[in-house]
Amino acid sequence: MSRVARARGRRTAASALDGTLWAPLAWLPTGWGEHVLLQVGRDGRWERIDVGVHAPPADAQRLDGPVLPGLVDAHSHAFQRAFAGLAERRAERAGHDDFWSWRERMYAVAARIEPDALRAIASQLDVELLKGGYTHVCEFHYLQRQADGQPYADDPLALAWALADAAAETRIGLTVLPVLYERAGFDGAPLAPRQRRFALDADGTWAACGRIAAAKRSHVHAGVAIHSLRAAAPDSVERLARHAEGYGGPIHVHVAEQMREVEECVAALGARPVEWLASRPGVALDGRWQLVHATHVTGAEVDAVAAARAGVVLCATTEANLGDGLTDLRAWLDAGEGGVALSIGSDSHVSRSWTEELRLLEYGQRLAHRARNVAAGGAGASELQAPAGRIWQRALAGGAGAAFGPGARWGLVAGARADLLVADSREPALLGVPPDRTLDALVFSTPSAPWRDVMVAGRWVVRDGAHEEEDAIAARFEAAMRALQAP
Ligand code: ZN
Repeated sequence: MSRVARARGRRTAASALDGTLWAPLAWLPTGWGEHVLLQVGRDGRWERIDVGVHAPPADAQRLDGPVLPGLVDAHSHAFQRAFAGLAERRAERAGHDDFWSWRERMYAVAARIEPDALRAIASQLDVELLKGGYTHVCEFHYLQRQADGQPYADDPLALAWALADAAAETRIGLTVLPVLYERAGFDGAPLAPRQRRFALDADGTWAACGRIAAAKRSHVHAGVAIHSLRAAAPDSVERLARHAEGYGGPIHVHVAEQMREVEECVAALGARPVEWLASRPGVALDGRWQLVHATHVTGAEVDAVAAARAGVVLCATTEANLGDGLTDLRAWLDAGEGGVALSIGSDSHVSRSWTEELRLLEYGQRLAHRARNVAAGGAGASELQAPAGRIWQRALAGGAGAAFGPGARWGLVAGARADLLVADSREPALLGVPPDRTLDALVFSTPSAPWRDVMVAGRWVVRDGAHEEEDAIAARFEAAMRALQAP
């Protein structure tokens, strides 16, 4: 019987809230724990978690493999999934291909996407993210209007609801971040025709956040975003920050991804982008702020982010794909007391697997420094000092802040949403590996399909490697892709 057929046979069992689970090995805040009993409450959150339970109760469901928490994908543009693999040829006649030429081609795809197509693309993406070990995704949602720049007549949030519908169908958690986007560049030039469907001012961004939150959709959260300092004027950034005074949710902003952006920011605002955000009284950077990329920063900027307790979202595969440059990972890990809150984003979705993001983060540093285990350090169990464990532990906490705001509980702890991943104990990369090296092997021994089962809010959403809606979702996605590419 195939994996898919076996998973279908369990459909009924898979859709019920499960009470008690038992795992031989589970990733806890202190590192790996053995013989772990996990109790799911009726609210879909962990009620209690006990370690060293050698004789689980008879009704406990035994999980046959190492268990890890799900990870938050802290930065997504769902529509760009339709572009993955299709931008890997040098632009015709262009002598040089970089972020800016990629962006022109991305705009051409964005111009053609309507709510039905976005729903089809996002559902496919969500299934792939769940299978890649992400159980919640933060959508930096700037594809907001019709192609001609007018709001959708029936509902200006039609595209945001398409994303929420996809999340409901696939059962991934979702944070929608409407985006302040109002100009073409630091010179204040108006939006180009292809950017008009991205337009939203500070008041509109705040109102959209309020509507998404008020809808109270299951496992759908709201925050706000600023596209970048080049796409939003200082007054508008401050206006949105004023709206958000007293608000506990996340505030995301693209920053310092490209050197050209840094140079233009210095010329226009007299400071580098992170420096400007950190020093502007009307912005008041704090723990709600999530700086996406923050690739090109000085030591002083790293210290300022650490002092503000703001987070940084690293998108290693996209940053590599776009030729953005390498961030100083060690500086972020070591800054201040306990380092900066870091999270992982799959961004343009050239990869939908967090193990690949962690691997590339460390490998980029090895290539740059001509050294090994660059991200190692810290304190605690040996697996927490290893590069994979250190970045992973930081990304679990940082991802929770990026999705829900400061102080959110996440991981295998009481009160957190009952999300988990079960690794396939028969995965070749794990055969014969000691328990405390499990994460190292999952990240650096490039397993093919490490997650056998995935749970979100106490429900199984992937069983035996399959999502129960994956065939129908793939068919709709393929049709949407063909339509987007039709002449
Ligand atoms: Zn982005």
